[in-house]
Amino acid sequence: MKKKDRDSRMELREDGGVPYFIFKNLEETGLVRHGFSTRLGGVSEGYLASMNLSFTRGDKEENVRENFRRMGRAIGFAPENLVLSDQTHTDHVRLMTEEDRGKGYTRPLDYQDVDGMITDVPGLVLAAFYADCVPLYFIDPVHRAIGLSHSGWKGTVKRIGAATLEKMRDAFGTRPQDVRAAIGPSICQDCYEVSEDVAQAFMKEFGSAADDRMLYRKANGKYQLDLWRANEQVLLEAGILPEHLEVTNVCTCCNPDLLFSHRATHGKRGNLAAFLMLTGKGPVSQEELDRQFEFREILPGEAEQAAEIERICFPPNEACSEKMMKQRVAKAPELFLVAVDRGTGKLAGFLNGLSTKETVFRDEFFTDADLYDPEGKQVMILGLDVLPEYRGQGLAGALMRRYTDRERGKGRKRLLLTCLESKVKMYEKMGFRDLGVSASSWGGEEWHEMDCALEMTGQKPVCNL
Ligand SMILES: [Zn+2]
Repeated sequence: MKKKDRDSRMELREDGGVPYFIFKNLEETGLVRHGFSTRLGGVSEGYLASMNLSFTRGDKEENVRENFRRMGRAIGFAPENLVLSDQTHTDHVRLMTEEDRGKGYTRPLDYQDVDGMITDVPGLVLAAFYADCVPLYFIDPVHRAIGLSHSGWKGTVKRIGAATLEKMRDAFGTRPQDVRAAIGPSICQDCYEVSEDVAQAFMKEFGSAADDRMLYRKANGKYQLDLWRANEQVLLEAGILPEHLEVTNVCTCCNPDLLFSHRATHGKRGNLAAFLMLTGKGPVSQEELDRQFEFREILPGEAEQAAEIERICFPPNEACSEKMMKQRVAKAPELFLVAVDRGTGKLAGFLNGLSTKETVFRDEFFTDADLYDPEGKQVMILGLDVLPEYRGQGLAGALMRRYTDRERGKGRKRLLLTCLESKVKMYEKMGFRDLGVSASSWGGEEWHEMDCALEMTGQKPVCNL
C-alpha cells in the first residue's frame, strides 16, 4: 500500500479475509463500529472485483449482497440494519431514524439527493459510497450521535462537512468542539488534476485558504487540487478541534489494486463504502438486561431466526446451516437459551449445546443432533451468538451465566466448547479453562478446546461468571 507522507492514525485491519480501514480516534470513543472497505475480500468479478458495494454499477445483486454480508461480519453489523445514501453531489444531510432501517438494502429508498446522513439511533448502520470522493465521519460522544457524508469536489465547495455538523447541532444539540471526525481514503492532490472552472470555484469559496498547498496551477493551465486539505479546512473552520480530527494518508488512485478509483480506471470500477454505526449503551446492569430481554428455551418456530443469526455472526465455513439448526431445535430445544428482545419479540442472541456422556469435543456434535443424550452430564456448547447491534452490553456473558446456572440445576457436570484463538480470552473471563488446541478442524480452522466445571467447590462454583 502506498501512503502519502503525512501522519495518520488510520489503520488497515483484516477480519475473516476482509480488509478494511479504521480510524483510531473514532474507535477510541467506544461508541461506534465503523470502517472503510477496500476492493478485496468480496465475490464480485472483472473490474468490479472483488468487494463492489454498489447495486448500480452492473454487478449481480447476489454478489453485492454477499459483499455487504462479508463487510458486516468483519466490522460487526447486520446488513438488515443498513441505511444507504442517495448521492448526487449535493450538500443535503438527512436525519435517519428507526423508520429508515434497511432503506436501500431490504427496502426501497424513499428519499433522494442525500449526500450526508446523521442519526442517534444505535444499531442503524449509515453507509455511503466512494471511488475517489472524500468520506467524512463524525461522532458526537456527548449526545451519542453520528454523521457520515460524501464530499466530492462539489460537496467540498458546498461545505457538506459543515452542513453535516449544523444538522447534528439542530437535531441533537451537537457542539463541534466535542466532535471526533475523520477524513477517509480518497484521491490525493498528486492524482487530482482539475480544470480552471473547478479551481475558480475553490478560490471563490476558500479565498486565501485556497493557497498553493490546497490548489496549485501548472504550466498547462490545469490545477492540482487537495481535497483532503480543503475538507480539513471546512471542518476546522466549522469548529472541529485539530486534535479531534484524523486525516487519511492513503489515496484511492495511488492504490488501484487495493481501492476503487474513478480516475485510475476511467470509470470502470465498483464502489467502496464507509460504514458508521452507534453501538448500544455499553455494559448495562442485570436488571436492565432483564427489562430488555426475556431469557427462555427456544420455540420450534424460531429455528429460522436462529439460523439467520448464525449466518450473520459466523462465516459460511463455520456457521450452522438452517437445516442443521432446525434439527437441533427439534431434538433438543431445552439445550437452547435464547434472549428475546421484549421490544421487537425477536431473538437478539442465543446459546445452544448438546448434552452427552462423551467427555471430549468432536466435530460430529455440530452435524449430528442424534448424538444428543438427555442423560449426559457434559454439555457440548455449539454456538454463542449475539447480533451485532446487541453487542457491548454484556448479553453474551448473561446468556452464559444463565445457561450455566440452568444446566447445573439439571445436574450437569461440565461445559465444553471449541473456539478460535481470538476468543480464548473472552471465554476465560466467563470461567472457562483453555485445554489447548483441539482435534477439531471445523471449517478448516484451528480450534482451542475449553471447558468449565459446574460442580460446586466449597462456596463458589468453579465456573464463576
Ligand atoms: Zn494519489
